[in-house]
Amino acid sequence: MIPPGETIGILGGGQLGRMLAMAAAQLGYRCHIYAPEPDSIAAEVAAEFTCAAWDDAAALARFAADCAVVTYEFENVPVAPLADLDAALLPHPRALETAQDRLSEKRFCEALGGRPAGYATVDSAEDLAAAIEAIGAPGILKTRRDGYDGKGQWRIASPADAAALTLPDRPLIYETMVGFDAEFSVLLCRGADGDIRFWDTPQNVHKGGILALSSVPAGARVAEQVEETHALARRIAEGLGYVGVLAVEFFATENGPVFNEMAPRVHNSGHWTIEGAVTSQFENHIRAICGLPLGDTSLAAKRVEMRNIIGDAAENWPQILSDPANHLHLYGKHAARPGRKMGHVTRLTLV
Ligand code: AMP
Repeated sequence: MIPPGETIGILGGGQLGRMLAMAAAQLGYRCHIYAPEPDSIAAEVAAEFTCAAWDDAAALARFAADCAVVTYEFENVPVAPLADLDAALLPHPRALETAQDRLSEKRFCEALGGRPAGYATVDSAEDLAAAIEAIGAPGILKTRRDGYDGKGQWRIASPADAAALTLPDRPLIYETMVGFDAEFSVLLCRGADGDIRFWDTPQNVHKGGILALSSVPAGARVAEQVEETHALARRIAEGLGYVGVLAVEFFATENGPVFNEMAPRVHNSGHWTIEGAVTSQFENHIRAICGLPLGDTSLAAKRVEMRNIIGDAAENWPQILSDPANHLHLYGKHAARPGRKMGHVTRLTLV
């Protein structure tokens, strides 16, 4: 067990790191952020900051030496430089390795009984034409690595669409378009002792590939698929020897749940847990990696809604605050670029 007062290292300097550091501070821990960008919004609320490249072995070693445990908030941290790190790294980097490549995460999930959309790897225009021939269109072409928030994705309606695309020179994966009734994510935390707690399942709405809204409780179609997807997420967590918060995203279809992807970290669709659950995803992640007992994940309201604040919508903060029921979270980002997550707002319905 790592006692309060010790230092927790966080790889990645964005809003997830910021909210992890705030939860850690509540429990009496110090945080040390490691990120390549100098303007880290996580570092602004942490005790220490190392600004260095992901492959700077000496900087990583100095950082690790300062920390009782190291975790990550950014899914695309390169895994190779972490191998020699003389530090407890949780969740285990095998979770990162699996989730960083859309092909390996689909195969991993399939081996555990999960069902992804039909897919085929694509490394050339010929592969793409063959994939469409084999599994059909419409579909989505995605980069296997480094995609997030709808980046690195191309929607393909027909073979003619595909032929008109200039493919990037990197490994890709083509997926059939799933006709879903709803999207949802399973959020769990696994403690160092193997104890697993699930939060209520949020139903998620994406716009332009970016999460717009998470609401709890989810609708009937999602509710009927919770038991099966909890069982799969449990097998994923146990299979990875996972410690911390894990998010697994699904499409709810009339033929059952279709696995989309997993995130080996706290997740945007779990931000509602800060006010909407007895214990937030951020606090339980810190508890898990420090070997503390997990907190209660029960819902703290009748209904909870979390909306992301994207781009210049952040300028509406006075209006958001004018409704006293709104919990406003701004991440302290200076430039409100289109598509950039600037904050979120959570509303609870208590009765
Ligand atoms: P991803 O980054 O893979 O989670 O994709 C972002 C969003 O794009 C998802 O949450 C869906 O709204 C949509 N999307 C991605 N893949 C598919 C698919 N195979 N079928 C339908 N919608 C998809």
